Amino acid sequence: MSDKENRLALFGGPKAVTDAPGDLFTWPIVTKEDEEAALEVLRRGAMSGTDVTMQFEADFRQWLEVDYALGFNNGTASLQAAMYGCGVGIGDEVICPSITYWASGAPAYSLGSTVVFADIDPVSLCLDPNDIEHRIGERTKAIVVVHYFGHPADMDPIMAIADKYKLKVIEDVSHAQGGIYKGRKLGTIGHVGAMSLMAGKSLAVGEAGMLVTNEREIYERALAFGHYERFNQEIQSEALKPYIGLPLGGAKHRMHQLSSAVGRVQLRHYEERQAEIRRAMNYFWDLLEGVPGLRAHRTAPGSDSLMGGWYAAHGHYRTEELGGLSVSRFCEAVRAEGVEDCVPGCNLPLHTHPLFKEADVYGHGRPTRVANSERDVRTLDADLPVSGGIAARVYAIPWFKHYRPQEIEQYALAFRKAALNYKELLEGDTGNPASMGGWNMFKRK
Ligand SMILES: *Cc1c(COP(=O)(O)O)cnc(C)c1O
Repeated sequence: MSDKENRLALFGGPKAVTDAPGDLFTWPIVTKEDEEAALEVLRRGAMSGTDVTMQFEADFRQWLEVDYALGFNNGTASLQAAMYGCGVGIGDEVICPSITYWASGAPAYSLGSTVVFADIDPVSLCLDPNDIEHRIGERTKAIVVVHYFGHPADMDPIMAIADKYKLKVIEDVSHAQGGIYKGRKLGTIGHVGAMSLMAGKSLAVGEAGMLVTNEREIYERALAFGHYERFNQEIQSEALKPYIGLPLGGAKHRMHQLSSAVGRVQLRHYEERQAEIRRAMNYFWDLLEGVPGLRAHRTAPGSDSLMGGWYAAHGHYRTEELGGLSVSRFCEAVRAEGVEDCVPGCNLPLHTHPLFKEADVYGHGRPTRVANSERDVRTLDADLPVSGGIAARVYAIPWFKHYRPQEIEQYALAFRKAALNYKELLEGDTGNPASMGGWNMFKRK
């Protein structure tokens, strides 16, 4: 490649990405099969029923090899029900990473409990097993583990801690449906798995969520909380039986059957589509192997763990290998090469939001975070160094849905050019802005 071709597009060189993306990033993939499934529900007027949802649940049980699956109107509701299922209640604490979407932890408030944030591992970007134990208190009830951006969290040490302190583990699988940790399917390793199936996620259905577990008690409590018409004579729990007929949570969590119908079709094709995504994403990272400053956020190729769907795929940034170049300047150069989605940062650290500092949501006359708890868990927020600094060390990469080597090579070239020409970029680098990333990753620009 000549010097001229190598010149950064930011400085007048040719763009690395010349092909139009077409459907390279289109997700979910919707075909006639999805349309017909949705129409069948519409024509039958079965939008508010449960027959299709129950079939979808059966598909899920078979796919993940679990005893129970329960459909929800969204992932947030499935997480709230998972917490309730685990017995989380007034005055209890739930440990959750600070770097995640708010719904991993925020539903705890509505159960009269609070959130204790723990730090993330800088490589996996998931809950750091070494940062959990010192945060456990008398009232800790559960640990929420998020398989962030599709990367499996290190479940073995987390399950060992949970065992030791008799805590429940809730896996938030919203980013990682179909992922594998040491040969085991994500969502089936903890006591309960809960996930979003929102249209932007890896397994993309629409507004929908799913809870999976092998524990009947968790399943029945989750069902009793917000599935009034299914909270019936089939309930086995003696503690729940007296209340059959009305939802204990005063909630209505039923899945819309247009979602269940589309979900069944999406799930049928998911493993195959996921394999294609995996091949494309791994090819992208293989092309960038050895480029200074850049590291893949992925499971080790050839290991018995697999990324799940690569939701909102990101990469690691090592500014120290690039003369201190800011990630925002780096991303500016990559975007100029024709990669629109390359933005710095990820989810903002939840512990920095006023909702987790001073908001009095329910009129306790005190911040909700500490309204029902015996200790001020906010003091533990002072020690979350990785979460606090992660925005400067990650950036969004293209989330390919198809293995098209020639096109993927163009995208990889954009990142390579920006990294290899870092010295030119240092001039004019005004550093990172005070805040990078957002409170959610949906259609983030
Ligand atoms: C999207 C998301 C949720 C919430 O799911 P909804 O379906 O949007 O309610 C929960 N946890 C994580 C990690 C998410 O990304």
